[in-house]
Amino acid sequence: MSASYREHALKILPWICARCAREFDGKRLRELTVHHRDGNHDNNPPDGSNWELLCIYCHENEHARFTDAAAGGGVEKHDVAPAKHRPLEGLGELLKKKK
Ligand SMILES: [Zn+2]
Ligand SMILES: [Zn+2]
Repeated sequence: MSASYREHALKILPWICARCAREFDGKRLRELTVHHRDGNHDNNPPDGSNWELLCIYCHENEHARFTDAAAGGGVEKHDVAPAKHRPLEGLGELLKKKK
């Protein structure tokens, strides 16, 4: 797996940083990087649904929250999505109904 997903991403996504909305072309295109939404560099669906184009500055910011993030590639770390279910929700109601 080389950087080919980057070329693919640049083909189907607008050359604009998704964070700061700067536009890139020509030489500056090098500053536009592919961010993986789920943090998995091996997850490269051809429709681009896992990609986000970020300039190197915004991309760094995106990852700066994780001080222990491994430099030089590997699996990216991202926020864990908040749990959709709340196990304790409704417990109060259940207790009220109990007699
Ligand atoms: Zn940016
Ligand atoms: Zn990233």
